[in-house]
Amino acid sequence: MLRYLFALVPGIILFLAFYFMKSGEANVLLRDFWRISFVYLVLALMVTPIITLTKKDTFAPYRRTFWVLAFLVAAAHGIVYFYAEYIYQKTFFVLEHFKALDVASGVVAIIIIAFLAITSNNISIKLMKGNWKKLQSLVYPLFLIAAFHVAFASRFDSFYMITIGALILLRTFAYLSEKQMVVSGKTSAKVTRYRCVPCGWIYDEKYGDPDGGIAPGTRFEDIPDNWVCPVCGVGKGDFIPYEDAYEEENTPATVVTATLLNPTTLELVLETEKKFEVIPGQYGRVALKDRDGIFYRSYSVVASMDKKLVFCIKLSWGRGGNTLKRIKVGDVVAVENIYGSFVLQNSIDPKVFIATWTGLAPIVNMLRQLPNEDKILLFGVQDAASLFYTELLKNIPRLTTHTFLSREELPGFQHGRIDISKFHFPKESEFYMCGNPAMIEKTIADLKAQGFTKIYHEQF
Ligand SMILES: Cc1cc2nc3c(=O)[nH]c(=O)nc-3n(C[C@H](O)[C@H](O)[C@H](O)COP(=O)(O)OP(=O)(O)OC[C@H]3O[C@@H](n4cnc5c(N)ncnc54)[C@H](O)[C@@H]3O)c2cc1C
Repeated sequence: MLRYLFALVPGIILFLAFYFMKSGEANVLLRDFWRISFVYLVLALMVTPIITLTKKDTFAPYRRTFWVLAFLVAAAHGIVYFYAEYIYQKTFFVLEHFKALDVASGVVAIIIIAFLAITSNNISIKLMKGNWKKLQSLVYPLFLIAAFHVAFASRFDSFYMITIGALILLRTFAYLSEKQMVVSGKTSAKVTRYRCVPCGWIYDEKYGDPDGGIAPGTRFEDIPDNWVCPVCGVGKGDFIPYEDAYEEENTPATVVTATLLNPTTLELVLETEKKFEVIPGQYGRVALKDRDGIFYRSYSVVASMDKKLVFCIKLSWGRGGNTLKRIKVGDVVAVENIYGSFVLQNSIDPKVFIATWTGLAPIVNMLRQLPNEDKILLFGVQDAASLFYTELLKNIPRLTTHTFLSREELPGFQHGRIDISKFHFPKESEFYMCGNPAMIEKTIADLKAQGFTKIYHEQF
């Protein structure tokens, strides 16, 4: 229902635009239903190329909605047209009119669209099987006839010319990009399952589709082009590779909160379907998805409570960073597992923690495990605006924090990069470091030079 309301928006906008353009001439205006119907026809034909180009199925359910609206508005246009003729000619049927190509093409277009609308239901799909897809190919002559009708009836109004041009361009781009994917082999690599975008049905090569005449073991590429989805009747072009491994190896995780701690640092809280055991310092491998498919990134766990995992992530310009910039509450990602040996040693030795930027994530988790010990943290970022978790650190008992700002000089902060030569640590101290490789490399060298040996680190 909501979908129909959204889909009605372009129609209403056009209706109002025409109304005001023609200063409310109702008769002419009602005839203009044909313009709106044509726009819905074009929108319906734009859904498939948009899915191909964006690899997102957001608009897939709208295809049928646009079709239904195109048909209803075309029917309204036909009724109004012939009613108007009746008023002027006192008859619904004036043969002369049908001899004019623009009227005749309009009538043919309405008959075809009515035929397509009547057969656009699951019962027809099941009854007609492969023939249904053939029947639906009538959409192409329909489009040509409708384009002919609007072009001539509107005396080549630029509105239609632009709309038709945009559709042809979009479909050409989609066709070329699909061809490119096949050429580069992106579509065939070891994929054995394919998901129907509009309805979610999965074609598994192992099982085929015996009811649809496809034997078990048939490769997706070898399925004849007239085969249709047994559930919703769309063709092969509406199927996308379904990554088996993704579902088998990962645990779905829903975004509970996604909070910016500063402009480039995101705190992400995920609720996973199963509980993961996390030792402070460990990291989770998170499966993310973008238009090129699934990819994995490691993020250290800041905290874990029941099925919730908290991560603190620097939003870089990389693939992970860019994907997470768009993430929102309710999105579903996945967690592969928890890994890592960067964990606290079971000792009573004094502990020093060193972190740059989001290297603080595993360190925070460790610090909170040591409420009864004195501990030191050296934390480095570029400037005060890049700081985060300041209050959280203040609330960790018996923690002394020294914050380094590499690019800003401010009272209360150390200026420059983290430099351990400014401190005197007890001989038996343990060091836990996390952050950028350059800092870790230099600090390890400095610590070793001072005779320290208990150094544990993780670099991002
Ligand atoms: C064990 C472990 C734990 C980790 N824990 C954390 C954590 O808790 N928090 C955290 O933030 N990170 C963590 N990381 C790092 C994280 O896994 C990613 O490597 C990091 O976030 C960068 O990933 P990305 O996909 O955004 O960048 P990638 O695509 O991998 O790119 C790598 C780098 O190149 C730069 N780059 C890429 N494309 C562009 C471009 N077009 N323009 C400019 N620059 C570009 C990016 O800025 C990035 O710095 C951890 C890594 C490991 C190994």
